[in-house]
Parts: sequence; structure tokens; C-alpha cells
Amino acid sequence: MKKTIALVAHDNRKQDLLDWVKHNKKSLNPHLFFATGTTGKLVATVLDDVTRLKSGPLGGDQQMGALIADGKIDYLIFFWDPMTLQPHDVDVKALLRLSVLYNVPTASNRSTADFLITSLLFADSTYEPILKDYSVYLNRKTSKE
Ligand code: PGA
Repeated sequence: MKKTIALVAHDNRKQDLLDWVKHNKKSLNPHLFFATGTTGKLVATVLDDVTRLKSGPLGGDQQMGALIADGKIDYLIFFWDPMTLQPHDVDVKALLRLSVLYNVPTASNRSTADFLITSLLFADSTYEPILKDYSVYLNRKTSKE
């Protein structure tokens, strides 16, 4: 069964992500990919099915977050740069926040990405991440009610 995998890398981590994608081409290529614009351009040289969003700083991270909120992403591989301040830091945080909120398996470095794609659960088409129950929050009384 095809999984939908999100790929994002900051500029200083793009080569790391590309190396990882090349190294794992055989196991990754059967799946579907969404990527932020520039990352997508690079990984599309290796992978067949890449849908490119806007570049991260131009809204791509937020588009990726919206896909997560809509339940369209199974895995997030996000090689963010721990050494450089990003102009879209708030978007980066928002994307990582949504991946936690929606319990999306997320890798921020190569070794974690390796563990994810070699997990028995990666090959298990029946695995569904359990979503936290937010019904108490959703049904809370607001001052107007
Ligand atoms: P990019 O965006 O793939 O367009 O470079 C990545 C990011 O900074 O979020």
C-alpha cells in the first residue's frame, strides 16, 4: 500500500535529505510524496511521484501543515537546520506542532528517517496512528453560549 510522505529540508540540510533519498530510492519510490518547492525540485530528480508545494518561506510549510490537518500525510521527514535562524521560523514551529498534534511519525535527522522506513509498521498497511480525543476541547462552553 502506498504511503504519503512529506519531505522538507532547510537549505543547509537539502544535500543530507537528497543523499538519504538516493540511498533509499528502491524502498521510497513506490510511495507518494509531497514536498516544499525547492526540496521538491531536488527530490523529483530521484523519485517519480512528487507533488511540489510552494517554497517553505513562501507558505509551503503552512500548506504542508494543512495537508496534515486534513489527514493526508502518513509520514513527515523534515530535515530542519539547527544552526541557522529561519525567516519563517513560526511556520516551521507550526508544521512541527501539527505533526505532534496529529500523531504523524516525524523524522528530523537521517538516523530517525532510517528507523521510520525500516520499521515493521512502515510495511503494515493496517497501521493507523491513534488520534487523541479532543472532544472535551471541541465541546467546551464559550462565553457566548
Ligand atoms: P524549500 O522550503 O523546500 O522550498 O526550500 C523548505 C523550508 O524552508 O521549509
